[in-house]
Amino acid sequence: MAAQNALVENLDRVVGAGHAWGLSHAALAPSPGADDNPGMVSIASPSNLRRVWSGLLDLLLPPRCLGCGTIVSENGTLCATCWQGITFLGAPCCACCGFPFDFDLGAGGMCGACLGAPPAFDRARSAMRYDDSSRHLVLALKHGDRLHLAPSLAPWMRRAGDALLADADIQVPVPLHWTRLASRRYNQSAVLAHAIAKAGGPPVAADCLIRRRRTPSQGRKNASARRRNVAGAFALRRADAVRGKRVVLIDDVLTTGATVEECARVLKRAGAVRVDVLTLARVVRETS
Ligand SMILES: [Zn+2]
Ligand SMILES: [Zn+2]
Repeated sequence: MAAQNALVENLDRVVGAGHAWGLSHAALAPSPGADDNPGMVSIASPSNLRRVWSGLLDLLLPPRCLGCGTIVSENGTLCATCWQGITFLGAPCCACCGFPFDFDLGAGGMCGACLGAPPAFDRARSAMRYDDSSRHLVLALKHGDRLHLAPSLAPWMRRAGDALLADADIQVPVPLHWTRLASRRYNQSAVLAHAIAKAGGPPVAADCLIRRRRTPSQGRKNASARRRNVAGAFALRRADAVRGKRVVLIDDVLTTGATVEECARVLKRAGAVRVDVLTLARVVRETS
């Protein structure tokens, strides 16, 4: 059983490597030749060879569900069970923080929390609700070295943050402290931002914001403890990169918003004209 798991894990890494390099089965297939005439039918035509090659790859490296790893028909998708478990977020929602509403309050309608205390950012949107079903996707990207998930998750974020991205000059990923970056080897927020940029989103200014002290995990802290925890934790390395710019901050999960609010304050002090927030997932508290 252990050996079988190791085999599946290795296969996953091989499939993952293909995705991480931006390779798909189609990309691995032989390129069309000059004589690739769709009007001609030939058993050995390049298009037939491509189909056979793609079919062979599907047999060797079958596409797997992003969530549970079960075999699916297409790369970069979820199986029906995982798909049903994910709560994708969208309208109607709070015009400011994106908190999902049961019914449409009309343009500009805001939740009680935003009306009571407007956040430091302008707008926030998230692709999906952070819950038992989406947690393993988020954690796989964060701690599981499964970077190949990013190109498949980026379209979900683009869909949720369509208006924000269309309005933005640059994306700024929420940075990790350098010690955490050294141990994890990558910043999942930067990986997501680059995947969004590659799919047509705004360019990534990855090095302009830094985390200057290592903050203890926000894990079990309440909202005010989270705010204290990140106060003064961020600084700008290149203020000129954000002055006069419309920024979309990219992060993996929005919980209380303390981290992105602190980043937004730093960016606005440096002259950013707008700071929106786009995350892969967000916690939705029923009392918000
Ligand atoms: Zn699945
Ligand atoms: Zn709100």
